[in-house]
Amino acid sequence: MRLRFAPSPSGQLHVGNARTALFNWLLAHGQDGTFVLRIEDTDTERSSRESESSILDDLRWLGLDWDEGPDIGGQHGPYRQSERLHLYASYANELIGAGHAYYCFCPPAKLESERKEDLAAGRPPKYRGTCRGLPLIVARGRLEAGERPVVRFKVPEAVEVTFNDLVRGEVTFNTGVIGDPVLVRSDGRPAYNFAVVVDDAVMEITHVIRGEDHISNTPRQLLLYRALGFTPPEFAHLALVMGPDHTPLSKRHGATSVAEFRLRGYLPEALVNYLALLGWSPGSGSEESGTPVDELLPIDELARRFAIGDVGHSAGIFDPDKLAWMNRHYMKVAAPGRISVESLRYFIARGFIRRRTDEALEFVASLLPMAVGSVDRLEEIPERVAFIFEFDPAASLRQAHVARLLEEPGAREVIKALPDAVDGTLADREAFRAAAARVRERTGCKGKALFHPIRLALTGSDGGPELDLAVPAIERGAALPPQAGVARIVGCRQRAEMFARAIS
Ligand code: GLU
Repeated sequence: MRLRFAPSPSGQLHVGNARTALFNWLLAHGQDGTFVLRIEDTDTERSSRESESSILDDLRWLGLDWDEGPDIGGQHGPYRQSERLHLYASYANELIGAGHAYYCFCPPAKLESERKEDLAAGRPPKYRGTCRGLPLIVARGRLEAGERPVVRFKVPEAVEVTFNDLVRGEVTFNTGVIGDPVLVRSDGRPAYNFAVVVDDAVMEITHVIRGEDHISNTPRQLLLYRALGFTPPEFAHLALVMGPDHTPLSKRHGATSVAEFRLRGYLPEALVNYLALLGWSPGSGSEESGTPVDELLPIDELARRFAIGDVGHSAGIFDPDKLAWMNRHYMKVAAPGRISVESLRYFIARGFIRRRTDEALEFVASLLPMAVGSVDRLEEIPERVAFIFEFDPAASLRQAHVARLLEEPGAREVIKALPDAVDGTLADREAFRAAAARVRERTGCKGKALFHPIRLALTGSDGGPELDLAVPAIERGAALPPQAGVARIVGCRQRAEMFARAIS
């Protein structure tokens, strides 16, 4: 089995296309097949090498590695269409010679006015076939005289084209609606429908899984396979990924590119797992039937269970909440060392970490138990522990709900008693509890009436992670030397003093 993903490098990788790549990858890996990456860059105005490398980067990040491709080569290269132009030219000549294609000299302005006429008459635009009957010898003469024609495919008239789509079942088109499509443009560049057929055939692709937006191209492609004497692959057209309003997922719905999701702090395995289940359900498997379907599956398990016939016909609605749920799960099960490395850039962006050092990484790793489990994305981790890096009693007291807390019975007394009670560093839970016990003895406050004001004085906030974890974390941060690359952190004793001063 040979499968391919064939992106056009004209922007970032859209999650819908990433899902197409993923389904190809899953099928290839589940069936011991080969996964080919081909770059469809014949649209020179829209294609760029930057886009190509960002797509490759995103695919690698997702873990969708390929067996053959532009960067690693392979038996069926080259893997960029712009490097295969000689092939298209030679197959175009073959089609012309066999009478399946012809030169068309119609000026673009004439074609445009015919198109407008068709639209005005309410018919789908269709090439009139003006040059269809032009004898080849005449056409060659005009070519020699310097005219630059396009090459068109001679679509057989009024023929039914039927194929069995692996997702949608039998699909039939009548060629009556298809005008003779351009195969090669006047500047020699091949049209998509032509290049894709030549490449899929020559690269010996056996299964084409792609977006439903290409289904109307498939009959043209099948006719070309026939004309070229190639055996067509099997086709599977995937319903497009939709937004909550049932229109194709686009910028209006928020993040749409893999790069954006990556930037926002989703883990690749979460995005992969989520996209795999968009329109496909792994089922519970024969042995496990009766047990609830487990949706949290690593990529290899997805590949093991994947069957193209189980992909649904209808659109998958992109559900950010479900993706967030999966991301939370994968953050929780990831190795902590990995999450600290991956989240470091967000700490740096907030100014909490100045440089990547071993100590900074270790410090971030030590904060993770307070954050992972309470946030959806890596990007949200620094905010959850911001109290460690930012301490500003005056700013806290300007918040109405914080100021209100001070009016609770005993709150001011607790805050005033705290500095003396912190007579060393509160390096661990026991030291913190001992300090709290001293405040209790002095003020008589206990429970919430004790811990709420203490939290306020040490963190500047009325909520957040458990104090047993938060307080030692503050002290660990305050003890770091400047060369650790961590922003300066105010220790608990100094915090208690600053807060007591701020309320007096
Ligand atoms: N370059 C085309 C696209 O990105 C590929 C379509 C296909 O898979 O045939 O839409």
